[in-house]
Amino acid sequence: MMPVLSACNQPASNEKREEKQAAQKEARKLGIALAGLGNYSSGQLAPALKETAHCYLAGIVTGTPGKIKEWKAKYDIPDNNIYNYGNFDSIKDNPAIDIMYIVLPNALHAEYVIRAAAAGKHVICEKPMAVTAADCSRMIAACKKAGVMLSIGYRLHFEPHTKELIRLANEKVFGPVKKIIAQDGMAKVEGWRLDKQLAGGGPLMDVGIYCVQAARYTSGMEPIAVTAQQGPTTDPAKFKGIEESLSFQLEFPNGLVAECECSYSKDMNLLHADAEKGWFELSPAYAYEGITGKTSAGKIEFPGVTQQALQMDDFAMAIKQKRPSPVPGEMGLQDVKILEAIYKAMASGKKENIS
Ligand code: NAD
Repeated sequence: MMPVLSACNQPASNEKREEKQAAQKEARKLGIALAGLGNYSSGQLAPALKETAHCYLAGIVTGTPGKIKEWKAKYDIPDNNIYNYGNFDSIKDNPAIDIMYIVLPNALHAEYVIRAAAAGKHVICEKPMAVTAADCSRMIAACKKAGVMLSIGYRLHFEPHTKELIRLANEKVFGPVKKIIAQDGMAKVEGWRLDKQLAGGGPLMDVGIYCVQAARYTSGMEPIAVTAQQGPTTDPAKFKGIEESLSFQLEFPNGLVAECECSYSKDMNLLHADAEKGWFELSPAYAYEGITGKTSAGKIEFPGVTQQALQMDDFAMAIKQKRPSPVPGEMGLQDVKILEAIYKAMASGKKENIS
């Protein structure tokens, strides 16, 4: 005779089934599709997706058919997960892709984040989030409307030396921070980064944004005003319509100042904080690897990590656990608002308030 389930057994078994389903859902790796297969995707993100525990490289979007063969072979990507910018919107019909990662030139971020959201996909957008704060707001609204999550590729928030520096500052281990110095520059730059239309600006948009981030996470506050000075243009043919270098000073509500510098003609990579009873710094501070930390009391030492793997895994977990990302669109918007105020101060030569 077949065993008969009593009515009172059913809720318990339903509960177990639901628990099992929830555990399976949690265990499933989310599929990420990279849109834009340039240096950052090929050199950093795709290799990092071989290390991730909660997501994997499921698909690609490329306008260069010649890249497909190599990517398919290297990352075992099925034909029906390969898209171009013409059929991008049909990603909505592909359940294998949960997250779109937009890794295109800055001025294209807004369009593709909004299209990814409309396709019902969660989105990671590279920095800077967009070239105007108005675009950032449209991107946030589009993701909210579509009920998808949005995060920005701020990998350093997952890097242990950076996290330790934030702890030293926030817990006032060396007393209150009195001065911040943030410098980021690279001497070798080419392609769309030199094109105002595609980049939205010069080194400020690309590397100066790390100084803005550093000033925010080291101070634990939002800057309220800024002054800025454009550096000399040593190569007018190369730097047409964009600054070659820029210094800016971010002022915080308690009088703290972050002295920042960014450049496309000088290699720099520093975050230094002077506090009441000592100092601490990272140098390099914004690199993919080899970040090194020192304080007035000794070294900051942690094993190396793949920042991008931790960043993407955290986003996948945030989606699964329905919790906010620590690097949300709103953080990207605030940075772009600050970038706009810096350019305004550079043009006016005056102190400009940051709203
Ligand atoms: P890249 O030039 O190497 O790649 C850009 C890709 O976009 C190329 O594959 C190119 O073919 C494609 N593309 C599509 N439309 C294009 C157009 N109209 N013009 C030019 N290229 C076009 O650039 P990248 O270094 O990979 O940077 C891409 C994005 O990633 C940028 O927003 C950049 O700021 C960001 N990035 C972030 C980090 C980080 O550490 N988080 C590091 C590097 C780059």
